[in-house]
Amino acid sequence: MFTSSSNIEELIRCFHLEDSMLRYSSFVPRLYNYCRSLGFEPGRILPSRAFCSDESQGYPTILIAKHFGTFPFNHGRGGAIVATQRHAPFAEHGQDLVIIQASHVGYDPETTEFGRYRRIHAEQAGHSTSCGKLAGVIARYQREYQFAQSGVLLESCGGSLCVCIDNGLLRGNRTEGLFLNLSRLAERDSEGEFTPVRTYSTAKSFVASAALQRQLPELHLREGERLPIGAHLKPKMFFFRRDLDETPEGRDQQELGLISAMPWIVTSPHPLLTAAQVNTQVEFDRAFRTAAQAPSFQGKRLLYVSGLNIDISPQVGETFPTTNFVPWAAYFQDRDGRQRILEQPELLMALLAQSEENPDAVDLEAAISVMAESDMVRFGVVASGQESPRPQTPA
Ligand SMILES: [Zn+2]
Repeated sequence: MFTSSSNIEELIRCFHLEDSMLRYSSFVPRLYNYCRSLGFEPGRILPSRAFCSDESQGYPTILIAKHFGTFPFNHGRGGAIVATQRHAPFAEHGQDLVIIQASHVGYDPETTEFGRYRRIHAEQAGHSTSCGKLAGVIARYQREYQFAQSGVLLESCGGSLCVCIDNGLLRGNRTEGLFLNLSRLAERDSEGEFTPVRTYSTAKSFVASAALQRQLPELHLREGERLPIGAHLKPKMFFFRRDLDETPEGRDQQELGLISAMPWIVTSPHPLLTAAQVNTQVEFDRAFRTAAQAPSFQGKRLLYVSGLNIDISPQVGETFPTTNFVPWAAYFQDRDGRQRILEQPELLMALLAQSEENPDAVDLEAAISVMAESDMVRFGVVASGQESPRPQTPA
């Protein structure tokens, strides 16, 4: 997916969060009106959602049902992976189609922490991780990063700053784990080799690279003194490898999408926010292609919108979280085959240009009352040994 570490850094950097956020209650009617502006026909629009299975995603789903007048088709798997094999049945169920794909991250306003979410229905109404699926995926990488932070030490060798690296991290014949980009950490000798200046029983020490020395101008170590590299172990200094199932939408799909960006995720001040953001970006880049090529979508209007759901923990007594949406990118195709990608600023502007008023919104309470009060349908199913029922007029 990514070709170099600079590309990953740039992709993460160009996702604007703070100034691009919409409340869900504002986003969904604007999205509906945007669809209308593209020619989507009221009563013939079918939305779908590719959300995580977390119950916190229920509030956005209810708002989609309210504004689009129908419950959205389920296009998502745990962790907000788009189930692209479901394109065909989805296409069959509606004339004009909308896919809303969003990863999610919790936010706790009390501690201002991303990735934490209060489970008000749990026994002690305590907090847990959100997205829990992403937390499970990144945990192993966080541990490996922590090990490397203490396995790479800074020391002084005859007045030069050196990096003393645990032999376990230098072993190149591993197939999995954290691997150091030695050229970012250590200086090559005159023959272009990484030659240790000191060898210990379980580690080797190299002269620190010029870049690392520039990063630590204030560091003055005494001979024999050692300091773990800690937070100075930056994303471009390492990468991860893991033997993953590469089957499209196989069991490791999520990890496969995130592994190149994992150094930025584990070093982020908000790892679960960065993970959810990258998941949204990677999934859009992957799944929009499948949508653009799917025969089932040909000749149909399709708007595929991706973004990030930020679930602000509900307080005890509140029914739903306050969910915000950060749009990332969209893909539109018209019936005649014209296609267009909208980048984040264009998509945000397109949404902001729309009204929050939606005259087609459904009163869900009224709709539920109608269903509860409507006549009961009788089925002509006959149990064995019984007489065939006569058609009945409901009471
Ligand atoms: Zn989740």
